[in-house]
Amino acid sequence: MSYKSDIEIAREAQKRPIMEIGEKIGIGSEDLLPYGHDKAKVSQSFINSVQDRPNGKLILVTAINPTPAGEGKTTTTVGLGDGLNHIGKKAMVCIREASLGPNFGMKGGAAGGGYSQVVPMEDMNLHFTGDFHAITSAHSLLSAMLDNHIYWGNELDIDTRRVVWRRVVDMNDRALRQITCSLGGVANGFPREAGYDITVASEVMAILCLAKDLKDLEKRLGDMIVAYKRDRSPVFCRDIKAEGAMTVLLKDAMQPNLVQTLENNPAFVHGGPFANIAHGCNSVIATTTALKLADYVVTEAGFGADLGAEKFMNIKCRKAGIAPSVVVCVATVRAMKMNGGIAKADLGIENVDAVKAGCPNLGRHIENLKSFGVPVVVAINHFVTDTEAEVQAIKDFVAGHDAEAVLSRHWELGSKGSADLARKVAEVAEAGLANFAPIYPDEMSLADKVQTIAKNIYRADQAVMDQKILDQLKIWEDQGYGHLPVCMAKTQYSFSTDPNQRGAPTGFSVPVREVRLSAGAGFVVVVCGEIMTMPGLPRVPSAESIHLNDAGQIEGLF
Ligand code: ADP
Ligand code: MG
Repeated sequence: MSYKSDIEIAREAQKRPIMEIGEKIGIGSEDLLPYGHDKAKVSQSFINSVQDRPNGKLILVTAINPTPAGEGKTTTTVGLGDGLNHIGKKAMVCIREASLGPNFGMKGGAAGGGYSQVVPMEDMNLHFTGDFHAITSAHSLLSAMLDNHIYWGNELDIDTRRVVWRRVVDMNDRALRQITCSLGGVANGFPREAGYDITVASEVMAILCLAKDLKDLEKRLGDMIVAYKRDRSPVFCRDIKAEGAMTVLLKDAMQPNLVQTLENNPAFVHGGPFANIAHGCNSVIATTTALKLADYVVTEAGFGADLGAEKFMNIKCRKAGIAPSVVVCVATVRAMKMNGGIAKADLGIENVDAVKAGCPNLGRHIENLKSFGVPVVVAINHFVTDTEAEVQAIKDFVAGHDAEAVLSRHWELGSKGSADLARKVAEVAEAGLANFAPIYPDEMSLADKVQTIAKNIYRADQAVMDQKILDQLKIWEDQGYGHLPVCMAKTQYSFSTDPNQRGAPTGFSVPVREVRLSAGAGFVVVVCGEIMTMPGLPRVPSAESIHLNDAGQIEGLF
């Protein structure tokens, strides 16, 4: 049997006008700012007007450590949202916007898959409503103003060797990772080393996703550290006086984007910070607004639960004052087999023993999630090649961890396939079992926060930080940043820092290479291993096969 591609399914969507989707959740047409017929931003005045309403229930979708076999967090998020609507609940989905550049590298969009997608998926994966362009522009404005300040005499005494504000572009362009700028003579300024990151790695992105409102956004932008002086004291964005104009550029980008699922249910698609050097979830403003409009809000965190869910809880929930009622941990038979040591090429063959061998990875995630005081439901995202015995092996394993695993066929069948999962998730959410708390208090020292995550979440023996790093953390504590949460940047493929150690490894330490202060976003980034803030394109980029067909439709995107 052959299956349609994501883009073919999306193209056949019976979309409703976006005003109608808004009506479903009580947003009048006067409060929707349409971008065409199928996308709209929600007005700030509407957002302000719903603040006194009670919150619906928040459902976090996370997953086991990702494998090349694919897990389907976004697909499951969308499928569960549709499933909840299908069983008569009022539910919304909140997911991230896609970074443009990576679409032209490898296949794989950010709108879900199969019969669980948000549409228009082509727009969402490309320019969408221009939010990321606005972020690139705001970021670039600060870059230009900073070099302009140096050009006109450098009154702040910025050490041009210590400019930490890099430039951004929304493209996978490895040639820009490290550059020399201001070459070409007196009129072009003082040559210095610089570099580019991809837009989603910008601190502006992280701030947009954590800010409560425009005032908060402007303050946080001003708080960003852009360089250091000769005496090593920080230079802030507000010293460059850029935050006001940046906020003007970001005014519309701050408003959540309303779109719909294939089943015409409402979805907010807003923000998209990196999941390594940032926290990897959609915007606080979209999530908190959705909680006022729907009884259930299903949202996703990037990467596996060791990174994505940990940051969702310790950073986003802490900062936004929200808490999940239940967490859905996505697992697949294929990924369990890979965790059990099977190569990708052999995943099509039934292998119950390999599924069992991979399950300890899932087990550790379940235990970790419970340590935040939230109940866990495991969603087995069904692939058509899965066998009954393999699915049963996961269910049995999960039952032994005092949780339940539910098979879900949303990719293949839409909400009909996810109704069982929806019923279970709603039942657990309604039971009021959650007693959420972050796993470390604000007051804990920065170094101890890192140790807590390394030991309690990754199950490492310890995090290894040399004196230089400990001294740096101490300096930040003395400067008043000690209360910030830490944002771990490590491989998503393993609990450890070695991507090849699948399953549930023990007996390792977590070496901390570097720490960075994101003073505007409000976290300390702890870099464990190589991290990439400007991806490159593969040998054969998917861009080579993307084109418009004779009907003007996009081919080859997914
Ligand atoms: P994640 O959010 O975990 O990165 P996605 O939900 O974006 O993953 O899914 C990644 C890819 O896997 C998508 O192209 C999607 O169509 C595909 N996929 C997801 N679930 C299934 C499934 N059950 N069967 C087949 N393909 C799937
Ligand atoms: Mg995803």
